[in-house]
Amino acid sequence: MSEVRVQGVPTPSHPSPTPEAGRGTPRRITVVGEEVLSRRCQPVTGFGTPELAALIDDMFATNHIAEGAAIAANQVGVDLQLFVWDMTDDWGVRHVGHIANPVLEDLPADARRLVEEPEGCLSVPGPYRDVARPDHAIVRGRDKDGNPLVIEGRGYFARCLQHETDHLYGRLYLDRLTRRERARALREMADLQDAVLARRASRIQEHRTPPPAAP
Ligand code: ZN
Repeated sequence: MSEVRVQGVPTPSHPSPTPEAGRGTPRRITVVGEEVLSRRCQPVTGFGTPELAALIDDMFATNHIAEGAAIAANQVGVDLQLFVWDMTDDWGVRHVGHIANPVLEDLPADARRLVEEPEGCLSVPGPYRDVARPDHAIVRGRDKDGNPLVIEGRGYFARCLQHETDHLYGRLYLDRLTRRERARALREMADLQDAVLARRASRIQEHRTPPPAAP
């Protein structure tokens, strides 16, 4: 059985999709150019509320429909410092969780190794581009009940933690590219986004249709 870490804690098994995705309703994903994606989000203060739990469920549902690795609250149009993830890292370990008010820890220079790997974004439907980032990340924040939380990632999961924290500061991976590369990626998005959005729409339809009754 492959390893699963839920909220950073090794867990014997975990359903796929995660139960939050089943409870939640997929929301529209914001696209580069929308204002909510380009400014710093507000800290979460309403811990332990049904509204926050429902938002997290909806974010998991949206990420699942869009076949994403992770999604930030401003990608569903909500101005809050919050993201969720459900993804498998370079070593086959599945990571599932959510974090509010995340802060990336500064790693000592000798612990930083930059790796350049392709990165995409649900809010930039279509293109992928190589982005250099440290291959190790630690974020500190809170869970939905306000408990302190520390999440550590390596490889692709480290990339994901950094990409999502960037979102909450109004930064997209496009902002880490040269002007020319950014313009090329946006042109590619213009060509590809209709197909990506059509695929999401058809997956939402499946999500709404109840499975056939057992015989
Ligand atoms: Zn993104």
